[in-house]
Amino acid sequence: MHDVIIIGAGPAGLSAAYWCDELGLDTLVLENTDRLGGQLLQVYNPIDNYLGLKVANGLELSRLFTAGVEAAEFDLWTGVAIDSINLKAKRISLRSGEQLQAISIIIATGVRRRRLGIPGESEFEHKGIIESAARDRDLFAGKDVCVVGGGDAAAENALLLAEVCPTVTLVHRGKKLRARRTFTEQLQSNHCLTIFLESRVTRILGEENVEAVEIVRKEGIKPFQMAVRGVVIRIGVEPNTELFLEQLPLDDNGYIIVNGEHETSLANVFAIGDVSNPLGPTISGACGSGATAAKVIASRMLP
Ligand SMILES: Cc1cc2nc3c(=O)[nH]c(=O)nc-3n(C[C@H](O)[C@H](O)[C@H](O)COP(=O)(O)OP(=O)(O)OC[C@H]3O[C@@H](n4cnc5c(N)ncnc54)[C@H](O)[C@@H]3O)c2cc1C
Repeated sequence: MHDVIIIGAGPAGLSAAYWCDELGLDTLVLENTDRLGGQLLQVYNPIDNYLGLKVANGLELSRLFTAGVEAAEFDLWTGVAIDSINLKAKRISLRSGEQLQAISIIIATGVRRRRLGIPGESEFEHKGIIESAARDRDLFAGKDVCVVGGGDAAAENALLLAEVCPTVTLVHRGKKLRARRTFTEQLQSNHCLTIFLESRVTRILGEENVEAVEIVRKEGIKPFQMAVRGVVIRIGVEPNTELFLEQLPLDDNGYIIVNGEHETSLANVFAIGDVSNPLGPTISGACGSGATAAKVIASRMLP
């Protein structure tokens, strides 16, 4: 029996673990990958908006966070596959057969990139599907590319690629781009960039590597193929909440609903960070919610 089990070791989970340990709670962190830091590991740009720090990229910040919990005494299991959870009973079954029990559970499972779910998307991972323009831009210099999405992330990737690619085609299913105005103005004035609105990429094609995308510009009109060597997909994120379906109230997009103390509708079950923060996900917010949840739990348990 642990005082607290934390699921997820991104900024939120690590911050909660730090605070739980600091407050004398017996804590176990379960992370399903073999690395700490969550989405930080996908940030290839400098981060200068975490108060007091300036780092070259997310990996550097994840190293600082990991170093920050090195002296702590909580248990941390990585590469753990959770089979099922009974949140009411605070019981967790691992795929290895192990059963875990806690007094409180903190869910810090974050979000993942939304996928298009089209043919070619999985097949061409690392074979022309570009993980990040900030990281991979030079590999695609001189090649025609396509970016799918209409928000800030899609716009940012398209603008970075337009610095080195002869053509960049941005394909967005909406009538209007959702990206901030400074990005849309830069997109519209960039001569390398073509924007297809109310359009969808329906297939990614090629032999060994990406060679083309199939695009439908308007419902009912025949799809056409466009030759490209790289595709960036940035169509938003979705919360990692599959394990908790039907046990907790979720909003329309699957995010966990919490109160001001980050507690869910189930007593002693908390949700922190991006998984419960659809509107304002930030590293600071994730760390802050972890600290709050830990302090609330400690205030109930300790004399
Ligand atoms: C490209 C990019 C740039 C960004 N730039 C900034 C920025 O400049 N400033 C800023 O404030 N924010 C930025 N963010 C957002 C910031 O990274 C997130 O707000 C923050 O990482 C959220 O932390 P989290 O711990 O809630 O979730 P995550 O970072 O998503 O971590 C969740 C963790 O839970 C684990 N997990 C998921 N499911 C399970 C499971 N079933 N069992 C066990 N573990 C599980 C995941 O593997 C992961 O390690 C950026 C994000 C991206 C992708």
